Amino acid sequence: MPVRETEAIILRSYPLKEADKIVSFFARVGGKTRGVAPNARRSVRRFGAGLELLSHVRLRYQERESQELVRLESCELLESFFDAQSDYAIAVAFSHVAEVAEQLLPEREANDAFFRLILLVLEEIRRSGEIWRPLTYFGLWAVHLAGFLPPLDACLRCGAALEPDEPAWFRSTSEGLRCRVCRTEGSSTLSPDSRTLARQMRATSLPNIPAEGWGKRRAADLRKFLCQEIERHLERRLVTRPQLEELA
Ligand SMILES: [Zn+2]
Repeated sequence: MPVRETEAIILRSYPLKEADKIVSFFARVGGKTRGVAPNARRSVRRFGAGLELLSHVRLRYQERESQELVRLESCELLESFFDAQSDYAIAVAFSHVAEVAEQLLPEREANDAFFRLILLVLEEIRRSGEIWRPLTYFGLWAVHLAGFLPPLDACLRCGAALEPDEPAWFRSTSEGLRCRVCRTEGSSTLSPDSRTLARQMRATSLPNIPAEGWGKRRAADLRKFLCQEIERHLERRLVTRPQLEELA
């Protein structure tokens, strides 16, 4: 079987037997793939720091006939996000990016826009030291690129345009946004400001969104909406969501 070489982002790794690791990585060419890194726990010579969470690497691996797991041959570190994770909030934010990507990306399907999104968001968090603006951008684009972002300007039930100066309503059990007429009891609201922000984030790149005035409270309703869309799509809860909510 041929040895493949690709740029990749490490999404997750965990121990296998005494010495090996199982690694889930997002290959730029081949999409999300899982493989065995033999002896990675005993010897750092072959893989070095390349298998750390979210390392951007050049990876060589071998497909194995009729086996789901490929065999990792070597790994060259292109860009490490390890040091930035000494900040606890950034570590939680990075785990969230890794979890959402790992869960949303289908197996073995390349998605170059998603690949660039992850790197853009990690670099912006590292550069700016702040997480809420990049995470909001990430959530919005991740849901869009995964193909299930509902319209943000119309009621999904009746199709009416949402009023620009009043909130929209949403809940965890049903998809999309609703107008004042179609809302149901116990719904959460998405503010006009957050919908305007979502439009801006769809129209421009993350570094062009001004960092001023950002904190945890800004666009919290939008992140809640996006997380609920993701969780409904996955039919499971995100482990990192409560960790993010606990941050100051
Ligand atoms: Zn409606």
